[in-house]
Amino acid sequence: MSIARQVLTCSRFACHSANIHCRRRFCTSQHTMTSRHTNSKRIEGLDKNVWVAFTSVAADPSIVNLGQGYPDIPPPSYVKEALAQAATVDRMNQYTRGFGHPSLVKALSQVYGKVCGRQIDPFKEILVTVGGYGSLFSTMQGLVEEGDEVIIIEPFFDCYVPMVRMAGAKPVLIPLRLKSDKKTITSADWCLDPDELASKFNSKTKAIIINTPNNPIGKIFTRDELQMIADLCIKHDTLCFSDEVYEWLIYKGHQHIKIATLPGMWDRTITISSAGKTFSVTGWKLGWSVGPEHLIKHLQTVMQNTLYTCPTPLQEAVAQGLLLNYDLMGQPECYFSSLAEELEGKRDRLAAILQEVGMTPVIPEGGYFMLVDVTSLNQDLSHVTDDEAYDYKFVKWMIKEKKLAAIPVTAFVGDESKKQFEKYIRLCFIKQDSTLDAAENILKNWNKI
Ligand code: PMP
Ligand code: GLN
Repeated sequence: MSIARQVLTCSRFACHSANIHCRRRFCTSQHTMTSRHTNSKRIEGLDKNVWVAFTSVAADPSIVNLGQGYPDIPPPSYVKEALAQAATVDRMNQYTRGFGHPSLVKALSQVYGKVCGRQIDPFKEILVTVGGYGSLFSTMQGLVEEGDEVIIIEPFFDCYVPMVRMAGAKPVLIPLRLKSDKKTITSADWCLDPDELASKFNSKTKAIIINTPNNPIGKIFTRDELQMIADLCIKHDTLCFSDEVYEWLIYKGHQHIKIATLPGMWDRTITISSAGKTFSVTGWKLGWSVGPEHLIKHLQTVMQNTLYTCPTPLQEAVAQGLLLNYDLMGQPECYFSSLAEELEGKRDRLAAILQEVGMTPVIPEGGYFMLVDVTSLNQDLSHVTDDEAYDYKFVKWMIKEKKLAAIPVTAFVGDESKKQFEKYIRLCFIKQDSTLDAAENILKNWNKI
């Protein structure tokens, strides 16, 4: 229908908009869209998002940003150089293989082959996607059905619940519970109750999502905990989606174990990781899923019909970074371990500052986030009328009054667990010393500023 015809239709009652969507014969006002065009049911109730809400307020340069998780330390120079170099090669600027650039999937198969102690077929058992997000999305869309249930451990990376819902399934939540009254709390003190976990599995359970090391708490699941989860997956014949984007960020005394390597688990596990975390390049948005051919092929079907492929030069640069570090694995220069060593110092420094000012950090075993219990500050926010959990009010207040940004932890839990988690905020410590200095200055002068 032409614009002229539309205007004619609408002009009967003084609608002068040349709105091509207008089909109403008795139009009485300027309007842009009829109410018929509401959101699809699959995104109902998913409009609020913690990153959208908090990254814009923290963008003000006067704010010290320990909120959204991204490094402000530089990525290794060789990956940046490999990217620049790749862009000079004409064929690298064109589409590459849809399921993953050949050099990247081959490098991934070498690295994960070594870690998993098995041969991984680069073309059938790996899918490269847009970030860990893309891997999670293709996993849910490719394997989760309407009516399924998917078990999610709280606190969880916030997109799990919306992604399960968008697949038409029901998220079934189970919280980690604090099992310690010691003065110094670590992420290892947060545990699953075995009976409670067992009670969540039933005939509708399609999968359990685990995240180790966990965002936001930093917990690394032990072999025994993973075995308990694996036993339930096998007993109930369910899948396991294991988000391991922080797999290399493991602090002294801890070990990252891939659930896919436990007996009987390879065939039922999708393991997800990300170049953003591996090489401190979150803006590159490259991730991958690794798993058996009979599962990966369904993720590939999602990929070929949605995004089709990922940027070629980025994949080439990540491939080169992986190969370089593959040769260094086990040596201190390997970025997979040297980054964790650098971060451990930052973790300890931030924890010490927080303890000095009377806050209670949860010391993470892995990843680059730290939860902090802010109860001892006794910050009265009863004057804030917003109907929000305490941590949301606290973080908004802290950004405004203290110029320090964090992320509220109830963004990572369901309604029933909000009370248990609303006294915590999450701080990100993959930051330059100057950023941590600025945070220290704010925290040490808390009552003066
Ligand atoms: N999983 C977890 C646990 C994360 O923290 C993130 C965010 N970094 C992702 C997945 C998504 O990763 P990416 O940025 O590579 O999409
Ligand atoms: N994964 C990052 C975090 O937890 C950022 C996620 C995002 O910005 N969407 O902070």
